[in-house]
This record gives sequence, structure tokens and C-alpha cells, in this order.
Amino acid sequence: MNDPRPLILLVEDEPQIRRFVRSALEDEGQVIETATAAAALEAFSAQDPALAIIDLGLPDRDGVDLIRDLRSWTQLPLLVLSARSAEAEKVAALDAGADDYLSKPFGVRELQARVRALLRRQRVGAGETVISFGSIRVDRAQRTVTRKGTEIHLTPIEYRLLGVLLNNVGRVLTHRQLLKEVWGPGHVERGHYLRIYIGHLRQKLEVDPARPRHLLTEIGVGYRFQLHEPAP
Ligand code: CA
Repeated sequence: MNDPRPLILLVEDEPQIRRFVRSALEDEGQVIETATAAAALEAFSAQDPALAIIDLGLPDRDGVDLIRDLRSWTQLPLLVLSARSAEAEKVAALDAGADDYLSKPFGVRELQARVRALLRRQRVGAGETVISFGSIRVDRAQRTVTRKGTEIHLTPIEYRLLGVLLNNVGRVLTHRQLLKEVWGPGHVERGHYLRIYIGHLRQKLEVDPARPRHLLTEIGVGYRFQLHEPAP
């Protein structure tokens, strides 16, 4: 019998968390459980997972190192599980190429939402000429940004920053990744640039810049561009 559900590879050494994840994701996919990085790599060769969920605290290898290794040959969506306090670890995992993260302990609905988003990630922004969110329309061929037909002026840096975010809709980008993409590799320590320019973009594009719906802050980690407003 063919199981139509996508294969989800789970790499986690704690049996309770494995059980929790498998039962939470029953409707989203068929979970293959592995407890070590070595077993995960074997499962990768034997199966063809649609998504991998990786605990950063593995017994046989550093999770960040595993992610870097995977990213050298696969674009598979990677969701990271990490301890809530381990901010630096999350950032390192995202810098190494993870797509998203969940802090332990996490809830069933949070996990399902992240997995669904990654599985259906259409890379919305990447290939599209015109992208709309709220009452804003970005035409990348014309290089114009309009609100209800009225043009909004963006500076070249603001436009480039928006472009990077739109190429990665739904994905968390670390401060370092954004600084490198927009300002160049020599500027990765200049976090204040980002705060200033994200502030400008919110002023220009958000209905209420103090309560952004699209240009979201991931505290201590980076920013995430969300196309659709979250359900209340
Ligand atoms: Ca662990």
C-alpha cells in the first residue's frame, strides 16, 4: 500500500519528544524516527524525505554541523528543535541553512503550523514578478512599490532589503544573513543598520508600524516576512 503522506525525517534522541512529534504530525506526514546524526544520514540515503526535523542536541554530532553538511547537497526544508534558552545555537543553525526553528517545549499546533508551512513552501517570492500583501503591491520588473495605486518611494537599500525578505517569504533570516545580503560580507556586525532600515520599511509599508503584520521581528534571532496575516 502506498502511503500518500509526505515522509518527514525526525532526528531526535529523546524518545518522549519523538513520540510527541510523531503523533502530532499524523495528519501532515509519515514520520521516520532516528535518534542520531549517523542514523539520519542512513535514512536520507534509503528514503527520500520531504522535510527533516532536527534536534540540535544530538548524542553523536553537533546538530549545527549536521545542518551545514546537509545544506552542502540538499535544499530539503529543515526545521530545528532547540532549547528555549539557546538563542546563539538557533542563530548558528539558521546561519548554517536551517529554514525555521521551534523552541522546546513547543505545542502541537505550533509544530503542525511550522511543518505545514515548510511542506507547502512555494518559495512564493522567489520567481514572482508581482507580490501583494495588505494594500501594498511590489512590481519587481518595474521596481515599483505602490499602495492602492499610489507610488511609495523606497531608497535603494530599503528596496534591496525588501527584495531579500520577499525572496524568503515565511522564512526566518538571521541578522547576519540579512546584513550580508544587503550590505555585504564586511557589514555582518552592524545590527543597528537593520533596526533602522526595518523601521523605515515598517513606516512605509505597514498599516500600523508599531504592530507589524508582515515585517516580523524574531527576538534575538532576526526577521521574518509574512505574506498573509496570521489567523486571529
Ligand atoms: Ca537532544
